[in-house]
Amino acid sequence: MLSRKPRPSVDSNQECDTYAWFSQRAWVEIDLEALSYNVKQLVQFLSPRTQLMAVVKADAYGHGAVTVAQTALESGASWLGVATVPEGIQLREAGINAPILILGATHTIEQIHAIAQWKLQPTLCSPKHALIFSNILESIKHDSPIPVHIKLDTGMSRLGTNWQQAAEFVQLVQRLPHLEMKSIYSHLATADSPDATVMQEQHRRFSEAIAQIKAMGIKIPCLHLANSAATLADSALHYDIVRVGLAVYGLYPATHLQNVIDLKPVLQLKARVTQVKTIAAGTGVSYGHQFIAPHEIRLAVVGIGYADGVPRNLSNNMEVLIRGQRVQQIGTITMDQLMLDVSAFGDLQEGEVVTLLGQQGNEQISANDWAEKLNTISWEILCGFKHRLPRVAVM
Ligand SMILES: *Cc1c(COP(=O)(O)O)cnc(C)c1O
Repeated sequence: MLSRKPRPSVDSNQECDTYAWFSQRAWVEIDLEALSYNVKQLVQFLSPRTQLMAVVKADAYGHGAVTVAQTALESGASWLGVATVPEGIQLREAGINAPILILGATHTIEQIHAIAQWKLQPTLCSPKHALIFSNILESIKHDSPIPVHIKLDTGMSRLGTNWQQAAEFVQLVQRLPHLEMKSIYSHLATADSPDATVMQEQHRRFSEAIAQIKAMGIKIPCLHLANSAATLADSALHYDIVRVGLAVYGLYPATHLQNVIDLKPVLQLKARVTQVKTIAAGTGVSYGHQFIAPHEIRLAVVGIGYADGVPRNLSNNMEVLIRGQRVQQIGTITMDQLMLDVSAFGDLQEGEVVTLLGQQGNEQISANDWAEKLNTISWEILCGFKHRLPRVAVM
């Protein structure tokens, strides 16, 4: 068993030192060892010609962008992907020099100034965006061309120019001053499905567009298409870069991809018992008395609630781990607190740590388990933890 030393967190709004951590009511623990392991597993899985972009948008899926980015780069990732300009600036301000691709659309003057100033790399979604970029860079007399990434829509119907217009789009970017085409990319809509039909059609369209562009004698420095699911599903989709989010955080995008490589969940959600009491048979628990004690039970109050990101819809329908055992949550989950039936532990003390997501002994509760109960996806669960919860890096 690894000795786990708490380390001060750098990403939290509430700066959290070791002492503060021990007095916290609830927190998110980020296992940097697991993160590093996942990145190394991914790098090993890729051929040497393919680089790994760690996607750290949305505060690294709730894990804390700066710590995750630094650890991912140290472990073999060479690119970072973010959704917005401020997310990119946050990484630059922390001293990170790696190339940063902004996956979202940007086209306001303020955004373009910031992109130039902070050396971020934008996604160009249309000829119009390309013209705006070029004009604004001209107006501020930006000296060196900025690297830009051309986004094609091959079937996601989100950002990008329709793949059939790819050639004209690329020709325009080639002609415009201040822009240097760094890559062409697209995004897959169904890579996590066991049925690869749509994904293969998107791949075919992408290949066809690329072939047309190459036929015009244009050199494309770099191509990328795969997210986590496509990376695990099919190495023909890897190209020069893979853009991996979820798998970096140790979760599988789909059950049928679970055996491809070994991954370890990075995030654990923990909270402390704040009060323990006995309630008599027939006693109602929490708002609306949605739970009535069928017999005398030992009840524990825990200092975490839906304002921290524990979905209220899990009320009366979730378990937590205490001392390696599963314990039933009872009653409606409230804003800051929730209750447990801890009758199995006669000696449970206030201050004892409860694991809501993570592992204790042989028992494990994952973001996937929550996602299944809530009819959503693990991505949304991870992004749901609020900043009231300090992120504590452990290794
Ligand atoms: C978020 C995102 C990714 C990463 O997706 P995962 O499924 O988490 O690996 C890759 N590419 C784009 C364009 C994205 O927006």
